[in-house]
Amino acid sequence: MDSPRAALARQTAEYFRGQFKTEPHVVVTAPGRVNLIGEHTDYNDGFVLPAAIDRATAIAASPRSDRNLVIHAQNLKSTMMLSLADLTPRRTGAWSNYVAGVAHFLRRRGDNLAGANMLINSTVPRGSGLSSSAALEVAAACTFISLNGLTIPDLDVIVLCQQAENEFVGVQCGIMDQFISYLGKKNHALRIDCRSLEFLQVPIPAGVRLLICDTAVRRSLASSEYNRRREECDAGVSVLSRHLPGILKLRDVSPGDLARCESFLDQTVYRRCRHVVTENARVEDSVRTLRAGDLSAFGQLMYESHRSLRVDYEVSCRELDMVVDICMESDGVLGARMTGAGFGGSVVCCVREEAVEVLAARLARDYPAISGRQPGIHVCSLEDGVAVEPR
Ligand code: ADP
Ligand code: MG
Repeated sequence: MDSPRAALARQTAEYFRGQFKTEPHVVVTAPGRVNLIGEHTDYNDGFVLPAAIDRATAIAASPRSDRNLVIHAQNLKSTMMLSLADLTPRRTGAWSNYVAGVAHFLRRRGDNLAGANMLINSTVPRGSGLSSSAALEVAAACTFISLNGLTIPDLDVIVLCQQAENEFVGVQCGIMDQFISYLGKKNHALRIDCRSLEFLQVPIPAGVRLLICDTAVRRSLASSEYNRRREECDAGVSVLSRHLPGILKLRDVSPGDLARCESFLDQTVYRRCRHVVTENARVEDSVRTLRAGDLSAFGQLMYESHRSLRVDYEVSCRELDMVVDICMESDGVLGARMTGAGFGGSVVCCVREEAVEVLAARLARDYPAISGRQPGIHVCSLEDGVAVEPR
């Protein structure tokens, strides 16, 4: 039987033939991701621990003799035509901006791109926090690279995908999502140092699954509060640097240093800093416990992360807490926490394989009863990063 990725690639090639009446020259699949621990640490130059999941975005493509990109988004039943000679962002929110942005930044490097027919087909839910946007950017970049026979260092591809999202789409994301979609490894998470961009592959012991529960809450508050948290972290660094010479970001502050400086900081700023500093330490502890195969210790770190995000960083919400509470009361669950920026979005839960179905059924029954909302429940395994299949 096909793996989910292989089945997606095959289906995407079929849709491509139906749409363009020709054979694709390449099929690329790029996965979505979940961050296991290390939240709101990226912009503080800290550590994150994401993993690529078995939901992916596929692009099947073939070259065209003109200078146009004809792109069909299968999930949206929408076709767009872009000219490579005129790649400017379309209206805010247009899905084609993700692909156009990647093409734009490839061309800005000096790479010459030919026109292409492209069909996008995805199993990553959009807007659930599993990073369908980075999966689309990485798939698009690798499609252009393959069709045009380019050779570009991995990190440059990752950075230009992030640039596409920052500057073309207008979303201020960090680099984690593109990084993991590109370089993810089966049954592993990646511990990424957001300052140096060095990474370590961290094995996830056998016998567990990840369950992602989307609360179906989306809050517009998220972006203004996100900006405010960034400012609070910077305010913390500017006070702390008077007492801890040489620090540039909260990444450079240890929990002990911070505790000694408590009286110099505004109470709210202190709590924000405490979240970041302890969260960085939790990522490092997670790497150690996972390497030692100690899943219960790792699960406790996930619960502590959630508590810190709820109490110190104040980015959780009622519905995220409800899901974490249900997880905590369920058998076979090792740990759970909100994942993503917060104020809604998803909870990631690490659960023993034999308990995953019971947990999924319980969430499907209990969460709507207390929240009045329908959850999105995704049971995931951990997969490799982007795959390019020339045909
Ligand atoms: P997330 O990355 O958490 O899924 P975002 O809001 O960052 O959510 O990105 C979702 C957007 O990315 C969609 O609104 C759409 O514009 C684009 N996108 C993602 N997947 C697809 C797809 N399969 N086809 C077309 N556009 C997509
Ligand atoms: Mg996104």
